[in-house]
Amino acid sequence: MIITKDIQAIDSAHYMHPFTDHKSLSEKGARIITKADGVYIWDSEGNKIFDAMSGLWCVNVGYGRQELIDAATKQMSELPYYNSFFQTTNVPAVKLAEKIVKLAGDNYSHVFFSSSGSESNDTNIRMVRHYWATLGQPERTVIISRNNAYHGSTMAGASLGGMTGMHAQGGMPIPGIVHIEQPYHYGLAPTENRDAFGLCAAGWLEAKILEVGTDKIAAFIGEPVQGAGGVIIPPKTYWPEIQRICDKYGILLICDEVICGFGRVGKWFGSQLFGAKPDLMTFAKGVTSGYLPLGGVVIGKRVAEVLIEKGGEFNHGYTYSGHPVACAVALANIDILEREDLVERVLNETGPYLAQKYTELAHHPLVGGAESIGLMAGFVLMQDKQNHIAFDEEVGVGMICRGHCFASGLIMRAVGDRMIIAPPLCTTKAQVDEMMALIVKCLDATLNDLTQRGLMEALTLKMNVA
Ligand SMILES: *Cc1c(COP(=O)(O)O)cnc(C)c1O
Repeated sequence: MIITKDIQAIDSAHYMHPFTDHKSLSEKGARIITKADGVYIWDSEGNKIFDAMSGLWCVNVGYGRQELIDAATKQMSELPYYNSFFQTTNVPAVKLAEKIVKLAGDNYSHVFFSSSGSESNDTNIRMVRHYWATLGQPERTVIISRNNAYHGSTMAGASLGGMTGMHAQGGMPIPGIVHIEQPYHYGLAPTENRDAFGLCAAGWLEAKILEVGTDKIAAFIGEPVQGAGGVIIPPKTYWPEIQRICDKYGILLICDEVICGFGRVGKWFGSQLFGAKPDLMTFAKGVTSGYLPLGGVVIGKRVAEVLIEKGGEFNHGYTYSGHPVACAVALANIDILEREDLVERVLNETGPYLAQKYTELAHHPLVGGAESIGLMAGFVLMQDKQNHIAFDEEVGVGMICRGHCFASGLIMRAVGDRMIIAPPLCTTKAQVDEMMALIVKCLDATLNDLTQRGLMEALTLKMNVA
């Protein structure tokens, strides 16, 4: 029997959490999550919560899958660990590399394994610079990324990312990384034609390449859909144009598929949906549905051939690269995705159903720019959406809304004033209905709350006039 208060006290005394202001957390105490099943989690007070974030974008097949437990148990007893450093290998890693290459398509031949998305992006930086050095162009070192991108939290990951709050601590970005603006239509140019804006946003890449110097650029990196930045879905014109620009200047394209990969947008990789052919793809999260830590890079033939034929020894690797238990769980996870047709269902059934629900949600007075793709979705809480007026930052409307979600048994994440979801890929249509009812309930509670605080008066006045 867990005594919530006791655990909270020890938590606050000894456990330093990621991305957390500990002073304010210890005042209220952390919520203790004790069990989970399907799309639900439970806290130590017995509250059942709909996890519309799949943990952190990762529990794609849902909680409590016996197949994954069995795969881990079996592999643990056969071979819990061995490395791949010294001309050795293990069967689950080999089989998983083969499987991932198959899912990725003809452009790809190899997989490099790590234990996380951050580490995989470190690998990317080293790999693309080693690639260009091997080809006799060592001055090609600069990597172009985007504002508000998330590529992890190591020095390299956070530097590649475009989160100003992260850059402000610890001396980032590291040298050789520059950023362009994100393709955020609703936030940057809502009155412009969406497709025209997509081309314009891709054009910022070309401008940056010319500014830095065409012979200095190693690669461009981007998430097919920016996740932690607030589910920023690019116009459909964006990625083909990015690909065209990368091809024109011969620079490598890296797609960070940590969220989009393994079915989130209805394809095995997000780039397959958006019409890009990256040379390297970062993956993590959904590859094991979060049951064990695993990440890696899918390597295109263009890069693999150079590294293998001419690159010599690549002086890089992790103790847990190709961890047999993590790889065995990933294989079992992919098996579930295939057996239950989850990727296909996201594309043709649950994804379109969620999109329809988000179109309806757009009628709510607080909701601006509601959109979804596959099973990820977002909208902005707007004070006056007719006139495109956002709330004052001090209001912290996202956190107010998130508070109402917590209280109503729904995990929906706030990114500034954007409210985002990414439910498990096994979510059924009936569960989408249940989730949407919770979202509307939380939005109504937020509206009520804001009205009581006198923050919606301007809007109410306008609506009465109209
Ligand atoms: C979560 C995430 C990462 C970082 O992965 P970790 O496993 O937390 O290191 C990198 N890129 C993207 C797009 C992510 O969403």
